Amino acid sequence: MAVRVGVVGAGNIGQDHIRRLAERLRGVAVVAIADADAARAEAVARRVPGARVCATGQEVIGREEVDAVVVTTAGAAHEQFVLSAIGAGKPVFCEKPLATTAAACQRIIEAEVANGRRLVQVGFMRRFDAGYRALKRAIEDGQVGRPLVVHCAHRNASVPATFTSEMIINDSAVHEIDISRWLLDEEIAAVQVLTPRRSSQAGPELQDPQVVILQTAAGAFVIDELFVNCGYGYDIRCEVVGESGTVALGEAGDLILHKDGRRSGGVPADWRARFARAYDRELQEWVDAVAAGGATGPTAWDGYAATAVADAGLEALKTGQRTAVRLDERPRFYGPASRSGTAG
Ligand code: NAP
Repeated sequence: MAVRVGVVGAGNIGQDHIRRLAERLRGVAVVAIADADAARAEAVARRVPGARVCATGQEVIGREEVDAVVVTTAGAAHEQFVLSAIGAGKPVFCEKPLATTAAACQRIIEAEVANGRRLVQVGFMRRFDAGYRALKRAIEDGQVGRPLVVHCAHRNASVPATFTSEMIINDSAVHEIDISRWLLDEEIAAVQVLTPRRSSQAGPELQDPQVVILQTAAGAFVIDELFVNCGYGYDIRCEVVGESGTVALGEAGDLILHKDGRRSGGVPADWRARFARAYDRELQEWVDAVAAGGATGPTAWDGYAATAVADAGLEALKTGQRTAVRLDERPRFYGPASRSGTAG
């Protein structure tokens, strides 16, 4: 029987996820949708046969026919809906961030641990990208020896005028924070943010680019260039430098054309194009795990750790100083290492 999903938040990515759940993925049906904007929820639900509109997210979670919940509201509302889903004993896929403060993430962890069964998956979709999975396999197979330094770049063609310097940490770098923890299988212990000469393409208040340096507990460094007005497309890079070699993320799987004495290839326009297959796989694996009565992928602990590192990053952006990450002790509930959503 199909897993019956209720979706809370029908904005940008909510609509994307509804479309993939309703039209592309196996073993799942979208049966309820809510959004703060009722007209938007109505318009989206009209395109999904069998989906009802609910007045609130709480109503979605409480409905008897909803087996599992997808939370795709803006981050500030995540905590209340994830806690409600845990309270109702329903599996919940929550887009990143798990919650906007480390304290809110801890409340979710406490609720999940008290519930006794893992229910939360956080939307760090890069762990489901074929390129990143190949990178992780190469590291785990020892192909480059012990990782020492990771070079990352995270470039967007442009961002809206409302995008702030803090969002470069919270919304952008948080993806490298999570993927570095996963690739290296280590927690991040400290963060520093360097602020190069600003691009003239950035708004007057925006510090763009930024260089975020993450230092793991065991001393590896991640050097992450964030440049959200690069102008030419969405460009995600990652190269792991190990003791005996280096391994890098390939291009986005697109064709390289040799013609008229030139070599050329495409650059994805945005994150949707670059990570479409990762989003599909992320939600398919979630649905399959829910159907089997289990859970997979990034945990609430991973969501908490990413937010804790981002918090330290925000402080580092403000002070210019290397800032230690304050991380609680990891509950045994989440196992010895957080590496669910493996390289498989
Ligand atoms: P968005 O377009 O603003 O959509 C959020 C929707 O949630 C809006 O329709 C909003 O309605 C609604 N909403 C807000 N509070 C609500 C509440 N209490 N109850 C019901 N609906 C509520 O934002 P988005 O770009 O889709 O982002 C949503 C989340 O996904 C964010 O956490 C973001 O970080 C994450 N995200 C992740 C990725 C990724 O790569 N994994 C990519 C994009 C976004 P109003 O507009 O009326 O407030």
